[in-house]
Order: sequence, then structure tokens, then C-alpha cells
Amino acid sequence: MNMFQRLNEKVTASHLKRQAYCYVRQSTLKQVFENSESTKRQYALRERAIALGWPIVQIVTVDSDLGETAASVADRQGFQKLMTEVSLGRVGLVMGLEVSRLARNNADWARLLEICAITDTLILDEEGVYNPTDFNDRLLLNMKGTFSEVELHVLRSRLRGGALNKARRGEFKTRLPTGFVYDHNDKIVIDPDKQVQQSLRLFFDIFQRTGAAFATVKAFAKDDVKFPCRIHSGPDIGKLQWQRLTSSRAQMILKNPRYAGAYYYGQLRSRKNVDGSTSYFKVPREEWIVLIKDAHPGYITWEQYEENLRRMRQNAIAYNVIDRKTPPREGPCLLQGLVICGKCGQRMTIRYKYRRKGRIDPVYLCQRNRVEMGENSCQYIPGAFIDETIGNLLLETVTPLALEVALQVWKELENRFNEADKLRKQQVERSEYEANLARRRFMQVDPDNRLVADTLEAEWNEKLRQLQDTSDYYEQHRRLESERLKKAQQEQVLNLARDFAKLWRNPHTPVREKKRMIRFLIEDVTMIKREDITLHVRFKGGAEKTLKLPLAQKGWQYNLTDPKIVEIVDKLLNNHNYAEIATILDNRGYKSGQGHRIDRNVVKGITHKYNLKTRFARLRKTGKLTANEVASLLAVTVATVRKWGKTGIIKTYPYNDRNGCLYEHPGVNSPLMVKKTISD
Ligand SMILES: [Zn+2]
Repeated sequence: MNMFQRLNEKVTASHLKRQAYCYVRQSTLKQVFENSESTKRQYALRERAIALGWPIVQIVTVDSDLGETAASVADRQGFQKLMTEVSLGRVGLVMGLEVSRLARNNADWARLLEICAITDTLILDEEGVYNPTDFNDRLLLNMKGTFSEVELHVLRSRLRGGALNKARRGEFKTRLPTGFVYDHNDKIVIDPDKQVQQSLRLFFDIFQRTGAAFATVKAFAKDDVKFPCRIHSGPDIGKLQWQRLTSSRAQMILKNPRYAGAYYYGQLRSRKNVDGSTSYFKVPREEWIVLIKDAHPGYITWEQYEENLRRMRQNAIAYNVIDRKTPPREGPCLLQGLVICGKCGQRMTIRYKYRRKGRIDPVYLCQRNRVEMGENSCQYIPGAFIDETIGNLLLETVTPLALEVALQVWKELENRFNEADKLRKQQVERSEYEANLARRRFMQVDPDNRLVADTLEAEWNEKLRQLQDTSDYYEQHRRLESERLKKAQQEQVLNLARDFAKLWRNPHTPVREKKRMIRFLIEDVTMIKREDITLHVRFKGGAEKTLKLPLAQKGWQYNLTDPKIVEIVDKLLNNHNYAEIATILDNRGYKSGQGHRIDRNVVKGITHKYNLKTRFARLRKTGKLTANEVASLLAVTVATVRKWGKTGIIKTYPYNDRNGCLYEHPGVNSPLMVKKTISD
């Protein structure tokens, strides 16, 4: 038996009915163009398939992997297509120059063999035809697969080993950060571009001075100094671009040991994921494969580099500590996580300002530009006032909101009511129909047939009575039901509204609870600060509300009194003293500019601050006299006048709270004047 006959033995009619797949695998475009040798060998394979009996039209070439390299099935369409066709039993023969290379790893290969065995698919390479169902063939194929994987592994480690050896000598070329270039001898030198050099030196100088990456970024932004960046891929590779310095870029530069003239390699490690993809992660410096200090010129010394890292770490710690002072959940800001910047659309964050006596003021902050670009914050809005406003808005709105909920309940009940109503109404309609029927029967009967007519008339009457009853019952029920429903609805509305207000106003309700309630009611709040603050509140369920707030008041504005109060004080001063005015205002529920209770000192303060005419001046204007004046008028001592004032002999008008008062003019004919005349 010669070789060809043995091959032929494996090929059956069933194989020949199916297709022959010629799998072409060429890894690089270069190979596709240059490797005409392998193309020739592939044609030879096709000839073999034809010789084995496959019609030429049944030979399919799979070459979708051309120009691609990939190490697992996941990213190789051609191989997957092959697998699919094989598993569907459409393939009688799989050919390849080195079939074991069909799959790039042993797992893929084993799977292909298994499927080939199940579907009775033959495998052909330059060395022969194999039947995967045959134990010996299968063993051989498995070994081929293993060898191919070993080979691949050796090849890879050889490549990697070469790279590593070069890296250990600091000679393996890696991508250089902006500020360095390779010279024509592949030596690393400082970028000859003077502007690039200056930018980097300026960068490190500013960091030295300020000790913070953020401050450095800010300094660049302030003077609108652009930062160089060498493009490292694409058609413009190697070209310089001038960009704004960002925080992330600054951090990267500070952390890169290259700037201290150090060569490093192996900062990244890779990890295979289940889906066949690879992810990379950074390892700590101790685990870097290579770190060679003073390998090439740098912008800073190694000591400076270490110092810079230390300062950055410190900054980070300091920042974190500040942040951690208020665990976000427990912060008093009610709208946490719900605020959107109306200028740029970012979510706004919260900072807490610590005031005396443990008071914490929240501030809503949009700091995207601040962090990335070192610019001023996009928006900075003090939060206490806003929280209060939103609280009030909820108290106001929750009633309508609750109404909405209650209305839904109402609708639900109403639907049920309507269904019952329909049933009852049907009852009425049927009675109506029966009554009509009875009437028609009665009308149609031969009037001469009295007996029948009488019976029918009685029946008709009966039906009419029934109709009346059902209608009455229907109407009555309808009324009762709707009354009951209205009552239930009202109660529900009241309960909802009352409960919310009660909970909200209760000083013992924890902020956490309030936040929860807000999240339950509000979708988000968009804020824009311009000449005033606009709040756009979106409620859950679609309702919206826009509020305009004045800008937060400046310090001096805090003590301003409501002009309305000033006006009232001005009016009351005509007839009342400070204490009386205070009582009146307090009773009417007014508060001072700082929100305190109004007492006589506040009234006095208002009077002076707003240059109101004092009580004294007003009394004088109406001709009231001082004790001295009355004394000289009546020729008695001042003490006497005071005594008369106290005992009510002369009417007095107090103008302050220290018993200071003015006196009614005694008049020419007053008894006192008479008394004076008599005593004369
Ligand atoms: Zn913004």
C-alpha cells in the first residue's frame, strides 16, 4: 500500500460531498506581499485536495486573518468562521501549511480537533492527511499543536529576552517623554528646541517654588503659557504641539524618572483577562525590572525628583484629610449629588467651610476647570441659603405634589367606582329594556283580548316599578359612593402634606432623612450664578420649577433692616417710645436684619441708623416742654415738676427708656397757672 493509497483510504464519499477549507494565515502585510513562497505552497495544497477528489468549486480559501496578528480566537474572525463551518458539519477537509498553526494556542487547537473529530472532518497539511477520530492521528495532531505552542513561546521569550537584555543595559528604546529626543546615534539627549527646554525648566522651577502641581498648572494658566507636547503616533509623529498644561499632565511629568535622567523599564505589567483581552497595571518602583539613574541628561537631579514625589504625596495626604473631615453621607448639604452646573453641565461638588462654634457652611462648587486647567472654578455658590430655599420650596410644593399622588389614588378609586357604576347602570338599562319590551307587548296585543291585555299591562307596570327601583338604587349609591371617595381623598391629601411638613420642620429629623426625602422628591437642580442665582428644580415625575435668588448677601448687607420695618418704626415713633414699638413689632412677627427678636435697643438702633426723627424731636415739634421749661414757666422747682409729672398733675410724654419725658404745656388757664397767680 503506498502513501497515496493510505491517504485515499481516509477520504470517503461523505468527506468529498462537503467542502475543503484551505486556511491561509499570514501575519503581517509584509508577508502578504513578499512571501510568494508560501503562496506557492498553498497552491500545492489545493492541488493535493483536488487530487484527493474534491471538485475545485468546493475548495474554499479562508484568509480573513491576513495582515492581522492576534494571540487568541477571540479576535480572529477567520479562525472562528472555520470553527463554525466545521461544527455545522459542512467541512470535509481542513488544510493549512502548518495546520497546528491554525490555532495560535493549544486550547484553540484542541477545540478544533475535538470538533473535527465529532463532525468527522479530515485535516491536511504538507505532511499528510489526518483523521482526528483516529487515535494515532489525533495524538500526532495534539503533539503538533503542543510543539507549535512551545515554538511560539520560545520565539516570544527570545524576543522578550532580547528586549530585556537591552533594557538591562539601558539600551532598549522606549518612547521618550516630551523634552527628550534620540540623536542620530540613538542616544537620549535634551530636546534641542529651546522653547521646549525653557518650558520644562519653568515647570520644574514653579513646582520647586510652590510645591504643588496644582499651583504650577495655575501659574501656567494665569499667564496663558502653553506647554509643549511631542506627538508620538499618527502621521504627525515627532511634531510639536502647544497645549494648555493640565493637572494630569503635570502629575505625569513629576512622576516620570526620565526627567531626572533615569532609565527605567518594566513599570507596567500585563494580565490576561478571561475574554482574551489584556489589561495593564503599574507596579511599585521596587518591582520595576530596570532603573538606571543618571543614564542620560535630565532636567532635575534624582534627589530633586524624590523630593518632588515626597511633596506630591504630602499634598495628596493633606487633601485627603481635609476631604475626609466630613464623610459625604453625613455632610449637612441637602442637595448633595443632585446639583448640576448650569454653565457647563457638570455635576457640582460640595466643599464645607468650617466656621466658629462648629458651624459648617456648605458651598456648591463646579471645579472641573479648576482641577484640570488651574483656572478659577466654573461656579462657586454658597449653599446654606440655597438649601433653605429648596426646603421652603418643598414645603410649598409638597402639597401640590402630594395632591398629584393623591389624585392618582383618586383616579384609581374612581376607575373602580366607574366599573361598579357601569354594572349598576347596566342593571338600570336592563330594567329599562324590559319595561320597554313589556310596553311593546302590551301595545301589540289585540285590545279585544282583555285577559291577555290585562296580564301584559300588569307586567308592564311591574317592569316600570322595577325600573324605578333600580334607578333610585343606582342614583342613591352613586351619590353615597362619590361622597365616600371625596372624603377619603381629602384625608389622604391632608395626611401626606401634613406628614411631610411635620417631618421637615422637626429639628430632630436627621439631615440624612431630609436628604433621603429630597432624593425621593427631586431629580436634580441646575444652578447658574450670574447677576442672580437661578435654580432650576426638576421634580421626580417631571414637574419643574425655576427660582431666582438674589446673590448671597455681602457682610454689610446682613444688618440691613427690611425697609418696611423702618417705615413702620418711623410711623410709630409719632405716638410710641422704643419699648412700645418693639413690643408692637414683635407681636406682629417682625424680625431684625440679623433675624433676631426686636427689642427696644433694636428700635433705637434703627432710628439712629436710618436718621429717623427721634421721639424727642417729634414731641418737641408738637410743643411739649422740658421739666426746666415747665419749672420756669410755673416758677416752681424742677423737682416739683417731676413730682407733678409722676402723680399725673401734668401730662407726661416719655421719649426714652430712662424715665426721660417731656411735659404738656400747662396752658394759660390751667389750674397750675392759677395756683401760681394765687401764690403770688
Ligand atoms: Zn461648571
